[in-house]
Formats: sequence, C-alpha cells, structure tokens
Amino acid sequence: MRSITSRLPPLQAYVAGVICLGVLCCVGVFALDSDGLSHLLSPEVLLFAACAFAGELISLKVVTRGSEGEVTTSTTFAFAALLVAGPACALVALISASFAADTIQRKGPTRLLFNASQYVITLSASALVLHALTGVPRGDAEFHFAPADLPGILVAAAVFFLVNSSLVAVVIALVQGIRVGKYLVQDWFFQVSTGGLMLGLAPMVALAADFSLPSVALLFLPLLAVHRGGRQAIAKEHQAVHDALTGLPNRLLFSHRIEQVVNAGRRSEGASAVMLIDLDHFKEINDTLGHHAGDRLLQEVAVRLRASLDEQDTVARLGGDEFGVLLPDLPGPERASEVAQHLIEQLREPFSIDGLTLEVDASIGIACAPEHGSDVEQLNQRADIAMYAAKEGGRGHVLFEPQLDRYSPRRLSLAGSLRSAIADGEIVLFFQPKAELTTGKIVGVEALARWQHPRLGLIGPSEFVPIAEQTGLIGPLTTHVLEQALRQVRIWADTGEELSVAVNLSARSFLDAQLAVEIPKLLEASGVDARLLELEITESMLMLDPARAKATLERLSAIGLSLSVDDFGTGYSSLANLKRLPVDGIKIDKSFVIDMPHDPSDAAIVRSTIDLAHNLGLRVVAEGVESHEAWRRLEDLGCDLAQGFHVSRPIPAEAMTRLLAERRAAAAAAEQPQPEPQPEPYPFRVVQGYAS
Ligand code: C2E
Ligand code: CA
Ligand code: CA
Repeated sequence: MRSITSRLPPLQAYVAGVICLGVLCCVGVFALDSDGLSHLLSPEVLLFAACAFAGELISLKVVTRGSEGEVTTSTTFAFAALLVAGPACALVALISASFAADTIQRKGPTRLLFNASQYVITLSASALVLHALTGVPRGDAEFHFAPADLPGILVAAAVFFLVNSSLVAVVIALVQGIRVGKYLVQDWFFQVSTGGLMLGLAPMVALAADFSLPSVALLFLPLLAVHRGGRQAIAKEHQAVHDALTGLPNRLLFSHRIEQVVNAGRRSEGASAVMLIDLDHFKEINDTLGHHAGDRLLQEVAVRLRASLDEQDTVARLGGDEFGVLLPDLPGPERASEVAQHLIEQLREPFSIDGLTLEVDASIGIACAPEHGSDVEQLNQRADIAMYAAKEGGRGHVLFEPQLDRYSPRRLSLAGSLRSAIADGEIVLFFQPKAELTTGKIVGVEALARWQHPRLGLIGPSEFVPIAEQTGLIGPLTTHVLEQALRQVRIWADTGEELSVAVNLSARSFLDAQLAVEIPKLLEASGVDARLLELEITESMLMLDPARAKATLERLSAIGLSLSVDDFGTGYSSLANLKRLPVDGIKIDKSFVIDMPHDPSDAAIVRSTIDLAHNLGLRVVAEGVESHEAWRRLEDLGCDLAQGFHVSRPIPAEAMTRLLAERRAAAAAAEQPQPEPQPEPYPFRVVQGYAS
C-alpha cells in the first residue's frame, strides 16, 4: 500500500525522514548486492518489472475516512523479483515501475519520492530477513528456492507487508490525528485480504517463472480475482460514505473529516471551519416543480459548491437541501465568513433547470474550531444554530456566537410541542387592518398567527410556521387558522362590522388538494360568505409551476373567495404572468413601501406596479405603510388599500374590536357639522404596544 496524501506540517517532517532513509537503503542495497544487477536484463526480471508497472497503473485507490491510499499488485512482482534476482534487481524493477506510473499519473515530486522511498525501505527490510533466514535467491539451482526455504520466504513476505503497511499507516494516522495502532486495527481486514494475499502469490509467480515464463500468465487470474474483490470492497465503502445523488461525501464521511481536521489542529496553531448550508425555498421548488427538477437543482448546486472551493476543502451533502463545507487550515474566522459570502454569491447566479431559470438563496451557519468547539458534535450543533439564526434574520451567513445558543434547544422543544399547541388552542390570531387609502376606512384584516406559549410567551410565525412545515403540521395549523379567522369574522359581522379576512397559505397548504374541499365546509360551519375570505399566496409559489398553480387557483377561486399575491416584487414573476391566473389582487412587498419615501427607485417600482396592476384589473394593497408620508404618496399613486404600522400593528381580536368601535365613533363625529375644518385628513390613532 502506498500513501498519496501529504499535507500537514508534522507530516512533511515524516515524509522527509522516509525519503532520507529510502536514499540510505538504496545506497546500501546497491553496495551489498552490486553483483545482483547482472540479472537485470534477464527475461524474468524484465517481465516482472513490466507487470509491476501495469500493477501500479491499475492500483486500487482506497479512501479510508478521508485519507487516500493505494493497494497495488506491483508488490507481488517486486517480491517475486526479490526471490529470483535479489534485492538490487527487485529494487530497480519496483522503483522504475513506481516512478513511471506516478509520472504518467502526474503525481507531485514529493509523492513520487515518498512512494519510491517507502518501497526501497520495505524491500530492504524484507531482503535482509530473507537473506538471514534462507539462501534465496539460489542463482545456480534449477529452482530459485527450495521447499525448505518456504517458511523463511513467508516470514520475509510478512515483513514486507508489515513494513509497507506501517510506513503508510503513519502518514494516514498523522493526517487523521489518530494513533498508528488504531488505524492499523481499523484497517487490518482490508489490508490483509488484498495486500497480504497479493504478496502471498509472489512465491507462486517465482515458481511459475522457473517452470516456464509464459506460465506466469496463469497467475494473472487469481491476481485479478483479488484485485476485483478489493475493488468491490472499495466501491462498497465508497457507497457507504457518499451521497448517491450528488456523489459528494455524506454526513458520515463529513463527520470523519471534521474529526480528522480537529485532531490534526490540536497539534498545530491552525483554525478550521464547519459550515452548514441550507437552500432557501427549496421545498417550494421541490413541491411545485417535482422531485426531478429538485434533484437536478441539488446536483447543480453540488457542482457549483465544489467548483467554488479549494481541493483541500470538503463539500458534503448532509441530506435534503442541506450541504456541509469543511475548511481546514484557516488564518481565522473572518476568512470563513468571506468564503461563505463567496458561496452565497456563486449560488445566486441563476440555475437553468429543464428550461426554467431558478435563483437560489442560501443560509449559511459557521462554527470554527477550536474557538466554538473541539469535537464533531459540538461544531455541527453550533453551525446548525448559526444557520438557523441566518435563516431567521434573512442574513445570508452567520458566524456562531454564544448568544445564539438559546436557539437550538428552543427550536427542538417547539417542534416537540407544536402539535399539542395547535390542539390546545395555543395558536392564536392577531389581526392587522387594511384601510382604504381614499377614505381611511378599515375594510378588512389580515390574520397573523402567534403562538401564545405558556412558558416562552408570544412566539412569531416566522419561527413556528417553518417548524410546522418541516414536521408535517402545516395542514392542521392552516385549518386551525382558517377556523379561528372565520369565527372572528362572523363575530364582527354579527355586531355590524363587515370585514374581509385574509389568511396566509404556505406552499405546502397551497398545493394540498384537500384545501379546496375543506374550505367550503369551514365557510358553511361558520356561516361566513365566501367573498369575505381572502387567501394570500406568495409570488414564488405561483411562478415555479404556473400550470399546476393555475389549476389550484382555479379550484380555490371557484369557491368564490378572493386570491391575492403576497410579497409582490420579491419573486420572479411579472404582472404579465399574473394575467393568465385567476387572482384578484397583489400586495406590494413591504420592503419597497417602507423605503419608498426616501428611495426614488423603490418609489418608481411602486408607481409602475400600481399602474400595471390596475391595467390588469387587480386590486393593490401596499403593506408596510409605516408613516403618514408613505400613506400620502400611495394615495397620490392611486393605490387601493394600505396595511402597516401607521394604521395599526397586528393586534388581538378584542383590541381590533375596540379600534373598529373608535373608528366608527370618529367617523360618526366627522359627519356632524363641524365648527372648524380638520387639519389632519385621516386622524388615525396608531395602535402600538403589541409585538408584530
Ligand atoms: P406577511 O404575510 O408578509 O405578513 C406581514 C408581516 O409584516 C407581519 O409579520 C406583520 O407584522 C409585518 N408588518 C405589518 N406591517 C408592517 C409595517 O408597517 N412595517 C414592518 N416592518 N412590518 C410590518 P408577522 O406577523 O411576523 O408575519 C410574518 C409572516 O409569517 C407573514 O408575512 C406570513 O407570511 C407568515 N404567517 C403569519 N401567519 C401565518 C399563518 O397563519 N400561516 C402561514 N402559512 N403563514 C403565516
Ligand atoms: Ca401575508
Ligand atoms: Ca407580505
């Protein structure tokens, strides 16, 4: 077995030592066995050298927990050469084969020298034992060895095997930061069943050569059988630690590599980083475009990640849409953040999948060793927490910091209690009004879910809706929200306030065919007219698979409710696409509206969106109306409805009822003849004090 890994500093010292020893052994062998060189051009030695060369070229690449090694049939022929022609000839045959094969395979000079040197040391040790125990090679005899030599030959072969394996094991153990003995134990079965068996065939090769040179060919079959067996074992090991879809290392190998880098780092000053990458909105893509497109996208993402990183970095697929990156040897955590930013930019370049152009945003969490952890579990866990924080804050990439720690156990505990929370009525609705821009009248509300947690207080939907989606609870959650929203609209209607209510749908709920069956039942049970119910669907849910979205929308629209496109302007769609769909309105995303008063380009986007939407007969709601200034501008632009903190934050039903009563009283008072004109056209009281 030969090592082809050489990277870390203590390793370099070892490699240099092996090369020096190799040179010394080489000199020693040629000095002591100079006569042996006279057999160099004998047909046997030439044949064995050629076979050794072929063996090097078809060597088996073995990846053992992240370090590469090779097992090769060349050792069979090198050892056979030792038996028939002595150490000097065997050495020349093996080293020429090794040099030639390594050069053809374009290996670096260090690898080339290390591989040759460890062969020289191995052969020298084995030759010494052979010489001490036997008289092999017996140049004058009919056969190169006698039956009585066999025990000595087997001992020499065992020495060959042990020295060779140990020299390589030290390299791998140094890279992995584990003890040589531990590595040898881990790997002994594979080593003995391939390298050991191949070496055991060497005396047979020598005997066959004695008998007649062509009969050596008969031994190719058993050699090939061992080679094939080894290859199958390697393929199986490869499968066990790689992801079938992308070919990247899987979680198991990723963990081994982290362990290896962390162990190596303990003995040096270097830092390393573990990154967890989660693709945003992948589930929507998968749900709307189908698994095939989802798989293709994951493959493309894998290719792009791999191409954006250095050879020594590991990219792994950890499952679903989650990838892991391991950066060994960093100057510091800032460098990890730079790499993360680079990856995000690379992923943002559009992907072309089955004729569709997809954009992918990613959230990356980073944890560094030794700063944030010194074992695999801790690093993974902290990178996960950072990733969750990145997703939460829409921040792209986040480096772990201790303050983030509270997220993870919290998330786990929330996931565990969400089902009972829905059943026990802990999910409550807050309502945020939508007001007509021309009159200031509240005509509808949006229902926004909150989790009134007995221990943790009020929890926002951005935290628990994704958990509901991931844990298969989005169906029950949507049903619960619809029920509560309709119940409340009915209560308001009974007291003379006719308001429409908008309910948000997640991608999964939207595509759930059951929904169109369930909603009419809920409407009937609550006695609410369908036209008072509105469903908000985000733009990205519609545009990925327009045909399927259209069919779904048509089913929902047939119920008589209205449909509006939420967060408009943040996705890939255009208004022209909406023309073909049965939607009634759009909600301009709050990011444009909030910045509109002081950002001319946002103001221009809002203006043209309103104009185009009106041309298509769509009603326009602006969300994120935070100031009187924004309100005034939207009114000038002819926008229909406004929603935002300027009117009211999302508030509980009772507070909403009070707000409506106040508005009604104010409107009634305004209708009375006034002694003086009102200075403020829409004297709204901004309702504060509830977290949105
Ligand atoms: P969304 O549909 O875009 O809802 C509007 C969000 O913007 C709400 O956050 C609201 O509190 C906030 N907001 C309203 N006015 C303003 C403003 O003037 N300025 C600013 N800066 N923000 C404003 P919230 O309640 O945290 O909801 C977040 C998201 O959670 C919602 O975004 C919606 O997509 C989702 N969501 C809420 N309830 C449900 C639900 O029952 N089911 C599903 N599937 N998703 C829900
Ligand atoms: Ca919404
Ligand atoms: Ca929105």
